[in-house]
Amino acid sequence: METNDETLRVLRVVEGTSVDGPSLRTSIYVAGCRHACPLCHNPQSWDMNGGERRSIDNLMQVIAYNESPVTLTGGDPLYQPVAVKELVHRIKTELGYNVWCFTGFTWDEIVADPALLDTIREVDVVVEGRFVNSLRDTSLLFRGSSNQRIVDVRSSIDARRLIEWKRDGWESLDDFKI
Ligand code: SF4
Repeated sequence: METNDETLRVLRVVEGTSVDGPSLRTSIYVAGCRHACPLCHNPQSWDMNGGERRSIDNLMQVIAYNESPVTLTGGDPLYQPVAVKELVHRIKTELGYNVWCFTGFTWDEIVADPALLDTIREVDVVVEGRFVNSLRDTSLLFRGSSNQRIVDVRSSIDARRLIEWKRDGWESLDDFKI
């Protein structure tokens, strides 16, 4: 895995989006993914050298300016664990914003790998798992296929088992209205 604690290789930053988690958010599309899910919706994001290097300071300025919760997506942010961990830590300690992270790693893979678990420890919610086209379901909330789960990170670590994130009344996209 690439490790860099000063910069993050980023494809783009989308400010004020509502599709990558609840409420308007700042979404950071992190470059690079090696999961190679068949029929991935975004194969141009796989290049580990794609996008551009952005400093953590620069990303923090954008996030602070928008005064919104944050989503890390990609690509797969967990292929740049050191920089992602630093960014999440700074968001939580300096701004206190809610953070979601989309990853192709499953929750079981994350908890089995101390480096991955350390990376997401301060994330609020992880949306986990590869995209499986045979399980594709466009009605799912924030997921592409039904194998993927929305994980409440703090509760899951404390309970030592996966606890899914639930928001009253938000079980599917049909319920998600802003
Ligand atoms: S994890 Fe996401 S970005 Fe990576 S190959 Fe699978 S669907 Fe594509």
